[in-house]
Amino acid sequence: TLSDRLADTFKNLRGKGRLSEADIDATAREIRIALLEADVALPVVKEFVAAVKERARGEDVSQALNPAQQIVKIVDEELVAILGGETRRLRFAKTPPTVIMLAGLQGAGKTTLAAKLALWLKGEGHSPMLVAADLQRPNAVNQLQVNGERAGVTVWAPEPGNAQGVEHGGDPVAVARGGVEEAKRTLHDVVIVDTAGRLGIDAELMQQAADIRDAVQPDEVLFVVDAMIGQDAVTTAQAFLDGVGYDGVVLTKLDGDARGGAALSIRSMTGKPVMFASNGEQLTDFDVFHPDRMASRILDMGDVMTLIEQAEKAFDSEQALKAAQKLSGQGGEFTLDDFLEQMQQVRKLGSMSKIMGMLPGMGQFRDQIENFDEREVDRIQAVIQSMTPAERANPKIIDGSRRSRIAKGSGRTVSDVNQLVDRFFQARTMMEQMARGGGMPGMPGSPG
Ligand code: GDP
Ligand code: MG
Repeated sequence: TLSDRLADTFKNLRGKGRLSEADIDATAREIRIALLEADVALPVVKEFVAAVKERARGEDVSQALNPAQQIVKIVDEELVAILGGETRRLRFAKTPPTVIMLAGLQGAGKTTLAAKLALWLKGEGHSPMLVAADLQRPNAVNQLQVNGERAGVTVWAPEPGNAQGVEHGGDPVAVARGGVEEAKRTLHDVVIVDTAGRLGIDAELMQQAADIRDAVQPDEVLFVVDAMIGQDAVTTAQAFLDGVGYDGVVLTKLDGDARGGAALSIRSMTGKPVMFASNGEQLTDFDVFHPDRMASRILDMGDVMTLIEQAEKAFDSEQALKAAQKLSGQGGEFTLDDFLEQMQQVRKLGSMSKIMGMLPGMGQFRDQIENFDEREVDRIQAVIQSMTPAERANPKIIDGSRRSRIAKGSGRTVSDVNQLVDRFFQARTMMEQMARGGGMPGMPGSPG
C-alpha cells in the first residue's frame, strides 16, 4: 500500500526539519505508482502529483507527524478536494416531479441502481416512480418490475396487453414521456427513468438517450459506471458527456476489488461529481458518495489519519518516547514488559478489532478482524504476568521447562505460551521496522 511504500521511502528521514527536494521526489514516485495501481488515468496522476509536490515544498514539517505521515496527510486532503470535497446532493425540481434519468453502458448497473435510488428516496420521504424506458434487452422491463416490487415502488412499464403497450409502439422516448405524465397525474414527486445501454459506446444508443433526455427534460442526468472497468471508465464517461451530457456520476460495484481510481479520473477529466456509490447486489447496498472515504480507499489507508490523531491523544507521551527509543535501538531492548505496557496503552484506544480495522492494508483481513476475540488480550496478559521479571526482560531465556511452568501459572497450555513468545518476537521485528520507517509509534502489532 502507499503507506507501506512511504514508510520505506522515509526509513532514514526521521527528525528532519523540512522535506528536502529529494524526499519529495521519492515520495512523488510512490504516490504516482499507488495512483496508477488504483487505475487513475495517467494525465490525472501527473496533475495530481504535481499539485502534491507543490504543496509539500511549501510546508513545514509538523512536530506531531513524521514526514511519511505528513505526506500521507497532504495526499489525503488533496484527494478529498479533487473528489469534490463535499457530497453533491440531488437537486429537486421546484415543481414536482423531479425527473432523474439514468445513462450508461449495458451491465453498468442502471436498472439495479434505479431501484436502489428509489428505495433510498422513499426512505427520505419521497414518493418515487420508476419508468422502464429500456426496450432493448428482452428482459429489461421485467427486471425493473421485479426490482421495483422489491423496493416497494410503482413501476411504469409498457406491457404488451395494456394500453401503454399499444401506445408506445416499442418507442422508449414515448414510454419515458408517458411515464413522466403518469407521475404528474398520480402525484409521484420523483421519476427515475431507466434507459437502455449497449456493451460498447454506440452512436445509435447515444442518440436514443439524447432523444429521451430531450423528451423528458430531466432535472438530473446520472451517468452510471462500473468501477471495475478501470481505465475504460474515463473513455466511457467522456463519450456519454459528449453524447448525452450528465450532471453527476454513480459508481457501481465498489464491493469488488476496484480501488476506485475511476472516481478520481472521471471527476478530474469531466468535472462532474460522483454523487452515489453502489456496493452490492442488495437494494440497500447503496449510499451517497463520500469523498473522504473514497480517498482512503484509493490510498488503501483505512482511517489511518484518525488513528494517528487518536494515538497522539491516547498514548502516554513519556512511555511512548521510551518505547520509541528502545525500538530505534537506544535505551535497551524492547521487552515483554514493554509489550504488555504497550498493549494496555493501545487498549485505551478502543477494542482491538476497531483499531486493527483502522490500520492501512487491513481490508483483506476484515473477517479475522471482525472475529477477533477481545479476551485474547486478557489471556496474553495472564501469560506475561506469570513470567519472572528476568523472563520478561529477556524472553530469549524462556526454554521448555520455563514454558511449562508459565503455562501452569497462568492456566494456559504450553502451546499458548509458545504462541505468545513467537508472536512477541514477530511483533518486535515488525515494530523495529515500523520505527525505522516512521510508522505508528508503539503499536504492538496484531495479537490475533
Ligand atoms: P444495467 O444493464 O446497466 O441496467 O445493469 P444491471 O442493473 O442489470 O446490472 C448488471 C449486473 O450487475 C446485475 O447482475 C446486477 O446484479 C449487478 N450489479 C449492479 N450493481 C451492482 C453492485 O453495486 N455490485 C455488484 N456486485 N453487482 C452489481
Ligand atoms: Mg438495465
